[in-house]
Amino acid sequence: MSSLRLLVLDGDGIGPEVNAQALRVLREVGAHAGMSIEAEHAAFGGASLDAYGLPVTEATIALAKASDAVLLGAVGGPKWDDVAPHLRAERGLLRLRSELGVFANLRPAKFSAAIEAASPLRPERARGADFVIVRELCGGIYFGEPRAIETVNGERRGYNTMVYTESEIVRVARVAFETARLRSKRLTSVDKANVLEVSRLWREVVTDLHKREYSDITLDHQYVDSYAMKMVANPRDADVVVTGNLFGDILSDLAAALSGSLGMLPSASLGEGPGLYEPVHGSAPDIAGQAKANPLGAILSSALLLEHTVKRPDLAKIVNDAVQGALDAGLRTGDIAWGDAGTRRVNTVEMGDAVVANIRSSFGSKETRA
Ligand code: NAD
Repeated sequence: MSSLRLLVLDGDGIGPEVNAQALRVLREVGAHAGMSIEAEHAAFGGASLDAYGLPVTEATIALAKASDAVLLGAVGGPKWDDVAPHLRAERGLLRLRSELGVFANLRPAKFSAAIEAASPLRPERARGADFVIVRELCGGIYFGEPRAIETVNGERRGYNTMVYTESEIVRVARVAFETARLRSKRLTSVDKANVLEVSRLWREVVTDLHKREYSDITLDHQYVDSYAMKMVANPRDADVVVTGNLFGDILSDLAAALSGSLGMLPSASLGEGPGLYEPVHGSAPDIAGQAKANPLGAILSSALLLEHTVKRPDLAKIVNDAVQGALDAGLRTGDIAWGDAGTRRVNTVEMGDAVVANIRSSFGSKETRA
């Protein structure tokens, strides 16, 4: 890919601050890798509500669909908490996700030795853990019909439907197998096939796809309850994990605890068209405008963009290594600053500076070696 068309949606709160650093990183990588970056900006979330009376406009949706990828900051904040439900910033986000049809949500979870004091797991158990959860995002029990709370024989009952079609399973499993191919070629599919029919179908479809197209990948199946236990007890054993919407929601938050801070966590949401890349955290109104935000979740999201949209895992690795280098050098934003010896507290831009400098020197040393 020699040129990348990006739609940048900064959103609200710390969104613009962290996105600015992610965009700097992409521009730096692009300059060295011969990839031009055209970035268009549009208002989104509360900012769009202020400007246009809607959390996302049709024009922004059209821009997103016409781009190669969307880089999103975060949306929402107390200023817009009392608006009508259909105008809430989060509605804009859900609309964008559904318009882009991003059915596979990738959440990498990595234990960083540099900030191990922030992890609730003992370092000797978690050190080296590095895995990705691929969560189905557009189906399953969150969308299944029928769903209702109703009164029957004088008492209320509530129900939802967990439903997956074969094609919904195949498309997310394919993303997971492809992700596994770029890593250590191991995939774990998580379900509840001992109890649920929908999970039995899930397991059959994943197994068939494996036989047909991905026999180079080692596949295993796990039940969600025991797998949650294994993930905490032996996080190093996990590599790529694929699962449905509900199980993925729970497991990805469990995995998030490994990294020690919300500010460190990236995500990618992928479908047929442009990918949507955003840090996991929200708009953090409590620290907005103070240069305190950790930009690493947004920067690591840009690494996912290089991996999945640009299809250059080598460039993604340069960004990931540059982030690790900044942490190893002792740089810490407030959320990961524990006052340990050899660490120095920095602001959002200084953390971005360090990552950009590491990227530059990584390309410099390669160019020197070549
Ligand atoms: P939050 O993630 O914004 O903040 C939770 C805590 O983590 C805060 O103390 C915050 O300062 C801290 N934090 C978050 N990101 C950080 C970063 N990069 N660096 C340093 N510290 C960071 O969650 P919240 O406070 O529950 O929500 C605030 C607003 O964000 C709400 O309006 C919520 O609806 C919205 N929200 C948006 C998204 C999204 O855009 N995807 C996700 C979650 C919450």
